[in-house]
Amino acid sequence: MKVLKGIDISRQLKGFFKGSFQINKLLSGYTSIKIGGKAALFLEPENNIDLTQAVKFLNSIEIPFRVIGNGTNLLINDGRLDFAVIKLSRVFFKEISAKPDVLYVRAGVSLPRLLNFSIKNGICGLEFLAGIPGTAGGALVMNAGIRNPFQPAIVVEAPYPACFDKAEDESKSAGFRSETPGFPRGMQSIPGTKSSKFLQNFKGSPGELHLSISDSLIEIEVMDAQGKIFKLNKDDAGFVYRGSKLKDVIVLGAYFKVKNKAAWQVAERIKIFLKKRQISQEMCVRSAGCIFKNPTGENISAGELIERAKLKGRSIGQAQVSDLHANFIVNRGNATFSQVCELMDLVQNKVKQDCGIKLETEVEIWNSRGL
Ligand SMILES: Cc1cc2nc3c(=O)[nH]c(=O)nc-3n(C[C@H](O)[C@H](O)[C@H](O)COP(=O)(O)OP(=O)(O)OC[C@H]3O[C@@H](n4cnc5c(N)ncnc54)[C@H](O)[C@@H]3O)c2cc1C
Repeated sequence: MKVLKGIDISRQLKGFFKGSFQINKLLSGYTSIKIGGKAALFLEPENNIDLTQAVKFLNSIEIPFRVIGNGTNLLINDGRLDFAVIKLSRVFFKEISAKPDVLYVRAGVSLPRLLNFSIKNGICGLEFLAGIPGTAGGALVMNAGIRNPFQPAIVVEAPYPACFDKAEDESKSAGFRSETPGFPRGMQSIPGTKSSKFLQNFKGSPGELHLSISDSLIEIEVMDAQGKIFKLNKDDAGFVYRGSKLKDVIVLGAYFKVKNKAAWQVAERIKIFLKKRQISQEMCVRSAGCIFKNPTGENISAGELIERAKLKGRSIGQAQVSDLHANFIVNRGNATFSQVCELMDLVQNKVKQDCGIKLETEVEIWNSRGL
């Protein structure tokens, strides 16, 4: 890195940068686990042109950078960080629009907002993202999704499990209609009575497959590390379970293939996914979601393995393995980066010792200058 004083950087940025920036910006407030030290530089560009300029500037002064979404899959070192962080938080990056069968979402749109938009506009296809607190950009990079709660056979035939339509038809013939436009805002609780009738009709059973954001993706707009904008198709993005090659670029937006349904139907589907999540997860705590990936080729989740290792509730300092969902590490107060790392090591070692399985981390760790 070139030795440049903050004052030089400020002066240079003020000359061309339309968005806002801050030197030595504390990141703890930008992560869901509320841990994170000071980034050398924090930039919120106004639009794509501004972003290109910022990327070129960072290259010219040899400061590496990372992009942060909602910080819901990140564990960031609470020491000093010698890289810049870019956040796509301005209005430009929050555009969302729909044509028949196609949804366009810019990277800064939060998933709860995307789902609110889907309800209002009767857009069906991404309801399983309900309760995931990230942005569209972060979700694409991580290939966010859930373990498919339906029969694999049904999913192979139709990405939208037929059991949904069946349940909806039965609910309709039973005179049930939802009055839920606008639901949900973020991670609200589910109103019970009428929708419970719908839930009774809903029959799904655990399966091994995953529903992922990349399933209905058409193409992605990205910017490379030199500031050049181009499109990638789904195959070029290298999606795998909880990962992709998109970490090497900046995701700007994406097009999804969707179906059109009545608003109430979309709302009901979302409720089902939220209901499942509410039963199994602590929703309003400081966490970074699942810490470990579910092991591939094993018919058991990381959470179940941790539970079997009797680690639920185990804590180091104020970092604790959740009592409810063993694959969540929760910050019960002022947990530090090293307490969480120590707890992660403890979990990995105990699970390896007890079950012979090495758990891989799902949460991304940002140390100084890299991973
Ligand atoms: C309570 C809770 C529940 C969760 N449940 C789930 C779940 O069910 N399924 C699931 O898959 N995940 C889950 N997560 C994890 C997390 O929400 C997802 O991985 C989410 O998609 C991350 O989005 P984000 O915007 O927060 O990304 P961040 O955490 O900010 O970043 C994640 C990665 O994406 C990169 N990134 C972010 N935006 C961009 C961009 N525009 N361009 C390039 N790179 C970018 C970052 O550099 C980083 O590498 C959960 C998290 C929490 C806290």
